[in-house]
Amino acid sequence: MEDNQFKIIQEQFYKLKAGNGFYSQKFKDVEKLESFEDFLALPFTEKADLRNAYPLGLQAVDEDKIVRIHSSSGTTGTPVIIPYTQKDVDDWAEMFARCYEVIGVTSKDRIHITPGYGLWTAGIGFQAGAEKLGAMAIPMGPGNTDKQLKMMKDLGSTVLCATSSYALLLAEEIEKRGIRDELKLTKGLIGSERWGEKMRKRIANELGVELYDIYGLTEVYGPGIGVSCAKQEGIHMWTDYIYIEIINPKTGEVLPDGETGELVITTLAKEGAPLIRYRTHDLTRKIAKPCSCGLNYPLIDTILGRTDDMVKVKGVNIFPSQIDEMISQIPDASSEYQFMLDHLYGKDICTLFVEAKKDVDITSLEREINQGFKNKIGISVIVKIVGIGELPRSEKKSTRIFDNRY
Ligand code: ZN
Repeated sequence: MEDNQFKIIQEQFYKLKAGNGFYSQKFKDVEKLESFEDFLALPFTEKADLRNAYPLGLQAVDEDKIVRIHSSSGTTGTPVIIPYTQKDVDDWAEMFARCYEVIGVTSKDRIHITPGYGLWTAGIGFQAGAEKLGAMAIPMGPGNTDKQLKMMKDLGSTVLCATSSYALLLAEEIEKRGIRDELKLTKGLIGSERWGEKMRKRIANELGVELYDIYGLTEVYGPGIGVSCAKQEGIHMWTDYIYIEIINPKTGEVLPDGETGELVITTLAKEGAPLIRYRTHDLTRKIAKPCSCGLNYPLIDTILGRTDDMVKVKGVNIFPSQIDEMISQIPDASSEYQFMLDHLYGKDICTLFVEAKKDVDITSLEREINQGFKNKIGISVIVKIVGIGELPRSEKKSTRIFDNRY
């Protein structure tokens, strides 16, 4: 941690502790923050804490300074509400504009925005950053593929912003309609989902564009707190706005650079709802060496998955990224799969559905995937091959692991 980062966090800590928001409660037994060791002893902030503060318990400034709220849609139960001040909104746009700049987007670009608008932070973040940069934002939102493709063609969109599953859906549609040559797309900025190398290659090839990852989460501004650069060596994180740690998700111990664990974020500039040691549940690692692009912001690796996506079967931990990687080494298998876990007659049953072209030898492909799974991940699964496009594509995040056991 740099000295100035520590000073900011220290000041924030005492202010929050003395306030009447959620952190005054959280830190009531923590007396001081005078050293880095004190920082490491601070309790983590969990999503459940944020949920318990519903609706506005996270608000850390006076009402008249709040200009907007966003909300992360909890899949179950109470949502988390994040209040923003004008400075928070401006800072977020600034970071997002920086993301566009790093990937070579300029004020001459036309940015086609398909993530949704509303309570969540997706669409509006892409838009505010585009406007800050001076580019033309095309605020499509998700859905209506016909209209998406028409606008993309007629307006000459150059940058596509989407989730990976929606980018894949559009790429497949463009391929099917044979309209690639009528489009002007050069770049894809893909957010909020972990995606395998195979899927990335398919989207890049079918759209004929360079692809970049954008990182972020609603609790910490939204998408735009980091982006991959042209060198593709990782995701640059804007550490003038956030402090990042990687921890062992089981023990909470901070891990050295290079080791994979859970990303934990402390905000440095946020006013409306500052967060201290917030557990993102995203799995990644810090990359120790500087990026060869020369940009002086640290790198984290592409997000490997979520600690919550990890499932334990027959004593083995399974991450979606391991399945991605296993499938990517089997040429006849496509990038799309679903992993179903059921508990029947007293034992766990795993079924892996994988998309493949109709003309492959299904029996031998199933055998090959089963063998691959056993070798790489360590357990046996039932493999079922389905046709391309048969598994659901989603405009939002797609779920690939379904645990129906409990
Ligand atoms: Zn770089």
